[in-house]
Formats: sequence, structure tokens, C-alpha cells
Amino acid sequence: MKEYKTVTLRRGKEESLDRFHPWVFSGAVARQDDGIEEGDVVNVVASDGRHIGVGHYQIGSIAVRILDFADRTIDGAFYHERLSEAFTLRTTLGLLRDDNNAFRLVHGEGDFLPGLVVDIYGPTAVVQAHSPGMHYARDIIAHVLVDMPDAGVENVYYKSETTLPYKAQLDPQNDYIIGGYTTDVAVENGLKFHVDWLKGQKTGFFVDQRDNRAFLQRYAAGRRVLNMFCYTGGFSFYALRGGASLVHSVDSSAKAISLTDANVELNFPGDERHKSFIADAFDFLNEIEPGKYDLIVLDPPAFAKHRGAIRNALIGYRRLNARAFEKIASGGILFTFSCSQAVSREQFRLAVFSAAAQSRRRVRILHQLTQPADHPVNIYHPEGEYLKGLILYVE
Ligand code: SAH
Repeated sequence: MKEYKTVTLRRGKEESLDRFHPWVFSGAVARQDDGIEEGDVVNVVASDGRHIGVGHYQIGSIAVRILDFADRTIDGAFYHERLSEAFTLRTTLGLLRDDNNAFRLVHGEGDFLPGLVVDIYGPTAVVQAHSPGMHYARDIIAHVLVDMPDAGVENVYYKSETTLPYKAQLDPQNDYIIGGYTTDVAVENGLKFHVDWLKGQKTGFFVDQRDNRAFLQRYAAGRRVLNMFCYTGGFSFYALRGGASLVHSVDSSAKAISLTDANVELNFPGDERHKSFIADAFDFLNEIEPGKYDLIVLDPPAFAKHRGAIRNALIGYRRLNARAFEKIASGGILFTFSCSQAVSREQFRLAVFSAAAQSRRRVRILHQLTQPADHPVNIYHPEGEYLKGLILYVE
């Protein structure tokens, strides 16, 4: 076995790992070597001493995130291999084109790099560590990223102040590890947008809605579109390109609205079909006349950030969707999403069903949506699936 400290599992607790689920919960640990620190690479062994895998140790309900089920060293060569595989997949997906340079390169467990997220915006990679182990590996990762042929990465911005466990006291500073500011404009399916990785939410843009925005473009022609929770305005500029007759973007954050306005201006300068509003989504929906919009997008922030909040989240989804069903025009199309990992597809659909029933309208499901292929789900780690959406036809 490679010379790492060892975490030994309780009898029988290797079962899920033998099925390649990459997490060791703290309750599964029988004992561990002295002196293991957060972020260390450790060997995980079964109660009979059989080697199970090698992973990053951390304090909390997940004790180890498995990096590999083989007995191997976790070094630059390991990160190089995993990041190259991730890059090959994105090339296969056709995401690197003259008219598209924004995509997720690493989606944690979905790319066999638990605790790591990397989004690419043209020449800049934005790296987020969700585990102390990935925090310590950040320099190696940054160098592998800029050395990858064909990826075109020149700048690596590290942004983990809000994603690392607070108790670990790692004091991560958001900053460039390599390079610096070159441009903040990236391109998605030919549409340009500014990405504010310095102050924006997540890595600065929601790349996970790319495919769903393209869907919206298909349905936008001639419609009056309301984009609720617009953030940087992604759905709005696809609607404009799709020929919407008007597009109204709503967000409670003034910063989000200024990003939306700037992005609309970048693609459709002076286009009078677009207007934006700083408002609470519930208040806005309450106040509008029924029938004013015939395409509504509801893409709220995660209502349930953890399992304990599911009940209230479902009430929130039901209320929000009920408002949209009350107000959308006849023959209208509703795009409705949940990005709460803790809320299942079935639970979300049930919440939307209850909202529809309350409105007593005829509602049909046209499409069932999910996250795009650059946010792959490791089949052994179903927790990696988080985005769900429905496109509904409302009579
Ligand atoms: N649809 C966006 C992502 C939405 S993120 C995209 O495609 O990029 C969620 C957004 O909801 C954030 O911008 C946040 O400011 C906004 N928000 C949160 N609570 C809100 C509320 N009660 N009313 C309106 N907007 C809200």
C-alpha cells in the first residue's frame, strides 16, 4: 500500500464503496492513524485490512472523499490525468468552438475529482474547492490547467472563500493563482456575456442552464417573456434572439439587474423589447395582470440547501409556481426549475402538480429538463444530480 496514513472502516461499511460510491461517512470509520490532518490524502481499508481506495480526509459528516479506488499516489500526474480526461469529454461534447468558450470543465464527483469545481470562461479558469484536500492541491491544479494543450487557459482564479468548510479555518483568499484579468467576456452559443468571478455568485455565471436556455429560444418567437430570478440575464438574451416580442427580467438584486442590462446591451444594443426590474419575485407576480405574459421562466435559488429544509422548500416551490399558473396567459409556456440537490425530481414535480391543481388549469408537461452534459452525474453517485426542470403548456 502507498505510504499514506490509514482510515479503517467498521465491519460491513465497505459495501457502498465496493459499489464505487466515493464517500466515507464519519460513522463508518472504526479507527484512524494518529496525526491525520484535514486535507491529508489517506488510505481507506476495510475491517479485514483490504485496501478500498485513496482519498482526501476531512472533518465532518463525510470523512473521506475517494479520489481513486486503486492503490496509487495522488500527485501531479494524477491531477493531470483526471483533468485531461475531463477536457477530452468537453471536446467530445463540442463545447469548445469559436462561438462557445464557457463550460464546466470539472464537476466534482461527476469527473472523479470530488470537492473540485472548475468553470472555464475563455482564457480564464475559475476554480472552487469544496474540500480542504482540493484547497491544498490548488497550485498543482492551476499549473495543470495552464499546461493543458488546446485548453487555452491563461488565467486561473481561485474562489473558495464561501465553498470551503468554515470550521477548517483555511483562510482561503479569493485571488488569481496564475495570470490576472484579461477579459471578462465569454461566449455561449454565440451570445456574449460579462462574467463577474470576483463578486458574482458561484463562479460568476450559471453555465448549467445552457441547454435549457437554448430550449427557451425555440419557444420565444412572438411571445411576451417574463424571466424571473434572471441573475445575469442568460434566459433573457436567448429569448431576444428567439424573437420574443418583449422580455422582462426580474431579480431582487440590483447588482444582478445591472449585469443583465450590461449583457443585453452587449448582444442587442438599444433593443427596446427588453426591460428589467429590481423586485421580489413573489411581489412582482402578485402585482401583474393575469395574461400579461405568455412565457414565464422561474429559476429560483436553491430553496433547500440541506435535507432538513426540504419541507419548506417544497412549500416555496408550490407557492411560487401557483403564482405563475394564476398569471400566465392561456396557451402559455412555463419553464420551471429547482436547483436544490436535496429535493428529488419526483418531489419537485409533485410541488408543481399541486400548484397546477390549485389553479384548476389544464397543464401538460412538454419536456423534462436536467443539467447539461458538462455537469455529468457519476452513476455511482446519484447525489451529483441536482438541476431539474419542466417545460409546461398551460391552457
Ligand atoms: N436564472 C439565472 C440564475 C438564477 S440564480 C441564470 O440563468 O443565470 C437566482 C437569482 O435569484 C439570484 O440572482 C438572486 O439574486 C435572485 N433572487 C433570490 N431571491 C429572490 C427573490 N425573492 N425575488 C427575486 N429574485 C431573487
